[in-house]
Parts: sequence; structure tokens; C-alpha cells
Amino acid sequence: MREEATGWQDSAESALNTRRGAFRAIAFREYADGPEHLVLVHGTPGDGVLARVHSECLTGEVFGATRCECGDQLDAALDAIVAEGSGVLVYLRGQEGRGIGLIAKIRTHILQDEQGLDTVDSATALGLPVDVRDYGPAGTALRHLGIGAVRLLSNNPDKGAALAAAGITVTERVPLLIAANEGNLAYLRAKRDRLGHDLPQLQLRQ
Ligand SMILES: [Zn+2]
Repeated sequence: MREEATGWQDSAESALNTRRGAFRAIAFREYADGPEHLVLVHGTPGDGVLARVHSECLTGEVFGATRCECGDQLDAALDAIVAEGSGVLVYLRGQEGRGIGLIAKIRTHILQDEQGLDTVDSATALGLPVDVRDYGPAGTALRHLGIGAVRLLSNNPDKGAALAAAGITVTERVPLLIAANEGNLAYLRAKRDRLGHDLPQLQLRQ
């Protein structure tokens, strides 16, 4: 039975203390066979709150893979939210590889390593879309918290438009810049040059 207030198929909420401090955790699922997402709430956020909408990356976050900067971005976003005293992190699952899935993402790694393709071309070479992430669940999660406008922790200008389509106003985009290193440089360069992310920490020559 759907929850009337949120339209979610199911959800649950509890306190969640982490090594960074106290959060409220809200797990939810929008539809019966869909992924279960997680919202972490710190403090008492309202409109204009600092927010991160983060797509799951198992390899980068759990295993510390250096070919992307997802794990560092997740850490930096949570640090920024705690430093601010309040904020929201919406962690969207089922969005590996910008939505192509974990197996397909690993397949793109092969093309990147063996043929030198970047994160964009390695997806299209497999006949896969470059980005099919759905930010709708982020919209319902923020509205569930009574939030209609956020300062968004992101380097991706397109994410603001995607959130607007999900009913959330982005009043400001707050950079979340991770230092380039040998492992992630090609990935960051492709994000900058192919996907239009603002990454001023990269030198022009990079
Ligand atoms: Zn990643």
C-alpha cells in the first residue's frame, strides 16, 4: 500500500549516529521493485539548506577505487554538511555508472583500460546511455522534509536543472572539488570536457 503523504511505496526512519555526528536516516522505496534509497538529515534543515544528491558508486565509495572521485565527494559532502550544522544528503541507489548498472560500469572499465576510451565513449561504445539517472526520488525526499529549495553541493550544472524538474529549486551550486591524481585525472578531464562539469581545480593543461 502506498504511503499517502509521500507517494512512496515504503519507508522507515530512525536516528543514525555516525563517526561524524548525529543524523536522522530515512530509507525509502518509490515503487515495489525499485531501489531502496537513503536520506541522511543533519540538524534541522529548511529551505536553502546545504544538500547533496549523491549517486551510489560501490567501487569508489566502499572499496576506495581511485578511477573516480565518488568516495571523496561523498566524504567531502558529509563533512561540509556537518561543518554547516545542518544539511541533507540524498543517497540514490541503483545509479551505478550514471544509471547503467554495476556490471555495465565494470564493462566500461575494460574499454577504458584496453582502448583508452573515456567515461563517455566507453558507455556509448557498449550501446549504453551516458546518463540515465532519475532525480525524481531526490525531489520527493526533499519535499518530504518540507524543503523546496537547496544550495546544492555539486560541480554539475545539469543537476540543478534535473532537480528543478523534480520540483526542487537550486538557489546556489556549491562546488565539491576533489584534487586530481594519477588515477582519476582522465575521468575528471572527461567530466569537465565531455559532460560540462565545473572543475577549476584541474589545470588547463590537464
Ligand atoms: Zn565512482
